[in-house]
Amino acid sequence: MKAVLDHVGIAVKDLAEALAFYRDALGLEIEAPEDVASQRVRAHFLPVGEAKLELLEATAPDSPIARYTDKRGPGLHHITLRVDDIGAALAQLKARGARLIDEQPRPGAEHSLVAFVHPSSAHGVLVELKEDRRTHGSAPTQHVALGSAESVGADPRVGPQPAPSPNLAVRRFTIGDLELISLSDGVIRLDGGAMFGTVPKVFWEKAMKADARNRVTLAMRPLIVRGARTMIIDAGLGGKESAKFHDIYGVDRARSLDVTIAEAGLTREDIDIVLASHLHFDHAGGFTYRDAGGRVRPAFPRAQYIIRRGEWEDAQHTHERNRASYLADNYLPLAEAGVLQLVDDDATIMPGVKVRRTGGHCQHHQIALIESKGKTAAFVADLIPTTAHVPNAWIMGFDLYPMDTLAAKKQFVKEAIEKETLVFFEHDPAVAAGYIREENGKRSVQPAS
Ligand SMILES: [Zn+2]
Ligand SMILES: [Zn+2]
Repeated sequence: MKAVLDHVGIAVKDLAEALAFYRDALGLEIEAPEDVASQRVRAHFLPVGEAKLELLEATAPDSPIARYTDKRGPGLHHITLRVDDIGAALAQLKARGARLIDEQPRPGAEHSLVAFVHPSSAHGVLVELKEDRRTHGSAPTQHVALGSAESVGADPRVGPQPAPSPNLAVRRFTIGDLELISLSDGVIRLDGGAMFGTVPKVFWEKAMKADARNRVTLAMRPLIVRGARTMIIDAGLGGKESAKFHDIYGVDRARSLDVTIAEAGLTREDIDIVLASHLHFDHAGGFTYRDAGGRVRPAFPRAQYIIRRGEWEDAQHTHERNRASYLADNYLPLAEAGVLQLVDDDATIMPGVKVRRTGGHCQHHQIALIESKGKTAAFVADLIPTTAHVPNAWIMGFDLYPMDTLAAKKQFVKEAIEKETLVFFEHDPAVAAGYIREENGKRSVQPAS
């Protein structure tokens, strides 16, 4: 039986105190809490590498977690092991005389099947087995209600965080000889007004709903290009930011790059080239990671990182208007590690992929133009961040040089319509890629099937 650690459940008595240690002192990220009403429990997940810690907080005095902590105090509650075939795992345990709480697997969260092994057989630890039944890499992960779990001993039924957004599924496309794979690093929420510049809210809120803090939900979608070599363009936010940062920007990385790159059947070691559209944190944060010793290192161990020289220089000489977007840990360690390659001009980065400077959003913002056997695609980054930004006047308030955005967008859209270019929208929460259409001066996007 092959088993992988999924999560470790910890019963807590005082959540604030527990967070002071796990989140603040250890510096772990925390995901949005999940209530399991039937168990009167709130679960807080903190990712640690491939697995998670799960802080379990009672929400009522008769909660199984309250009973547990009243009796034994706070502490380790259960561990969850993920197996490929839960039926076979249970049969194997039973044959060897293990005492099972669940003889048959039962539904858990998100299409999973779960079963518990009694602590008396597991040397004092409550062990949960879990089989993940999601089909990877095809349909988007749907937000499903938690399984109607019966109360088993003291255990609450909670599962991994559901995808927060309508469509962050891995998508594959073919352009001539190249394979393009759209990934996700989760979502971020930015002020709706800033996202749409001079466009009044009465218009933009029809395209994108704002939350109570006036923020709109934006995806972060790096793109893999596989041809002569394997390239990733941008890498999302990454995992180095604090809980406070995550709160301000409404970050949800349940569909992180680690999750989606694995769903695509790839690993970080497969990447030869990392290409940056620009160095803002929602594009370059995933270029590096912080190791167990606190050192920041390149997140793609074999890759060369290709960055436009002007953008590299601007990132070291920030000013009041752009300072918040550039976080040195996202790019300076690349130079220290000797994996940085600066390019000066519009150039071919690998066969079929060239960069073009657009400016506008920032002076050296660039897009990637992809071409093979007469077919074209484009990764337009913050030139046209979402499908809502396809009309000429819909330009972000963040842009440093909006008139340059306008000129570059006009030129690009004209070419994209003429060439039937498959356009990748890095920040669109629903549409990973589509074709721009124009009829009687009105533009629309036909999502790629
Ligand atoms: Zn940007
Ligand atoms: Zn951006």
